[in-house]
Amino acid sequence: MNLIDTHTHLYVEAFDEDRKQVIERAVEEGVQKFFIPAIDSAYVASMYELEQLFPDRIHLMAGLHPTHVKENFEEELELVEKQLRQRRFYGVGETGIDLYWDDTFIGQQKIAFARQIRMAKEHELPVIIHCRDAFDEVFEVLEEEKSDEMFGIFHCFTGNKEQAELAIGYGLKLGIGGVATFKNGKIDKFLDQIDLNHIVLETDAPYLAPKPHRGKRNESAYLTLVAQKLAEIYGVEKEEIARITTENACEVFKI
Ligand SMILES: [Zn+2]
Repeated sequence: MNLIDTHTHLYVEAFDEDRKQVIERAVEEGVQKFFIPAIDSAYVASMYELEQLFPDRIHLMAGLHPTHVKENFEEELELVEKQLRQRRFYGVGETGIDLYWDDTFIGQQKIAFARQIRMAKEHELPVIIHCRDAFDEVFEVLEEEKSDEMFGIFHCFTGNKEQAELAIGYGLKLGIGGVATFKNGKIDKFLDQIDLNHIVLETDAPYLAPKPHRGKRNESAYLTLVAQKLAEIYGVEKEEIARITTENACEVFKI
């Protein structure tokens, strides 16, 4: 099997003890490539170190995570822009809006999201969108910024069928991960009505581990559990899920 984890934070502290083994375990399970969303400037050095471990497999993005949008967000965005000018990245993000943890900076989150969409367009890169308790706000910004140049991934998609179709209409693929295996996750109820050509796989490791690891540290090797769940939802072989979602990931990341 040839799988791609389109969203995994392998550089964070949760993997400090066994980062190399975590990646090797995933490779053994057929996960060939790892796309690495950014959080903020504090993590940039660890991301570059991670890349050095497996340069052929690790593909970095540049961006500012919505939960890290604070008073200094302008400086953070300047750093993202500077990074994008300096070297190759594979996406801009993760960006978007998160009102679950804290809505103090909602205005700044919207501005930071819009700015990162523009950066993605300028560099012809996919934008990676994080949305938590903020579907209306995210779609509002997407509507303002939409154009033929906009494409990317609606990461950790947890919405309903209408929201899925809306996201696809903006040129986005749906990133599906551990939530699809949760009893109360809901997306398993309608996902089979969404064409597989719009789906990519992700773990969002170390968060959101799929069943039966729910609540524990997630890792990219568990991507096979997500593929297995999708095989059940769509009524096709796991290999078929792997083939189509990997093709979709290659298309969106231009590799
Ligand atoms: Zn993430």
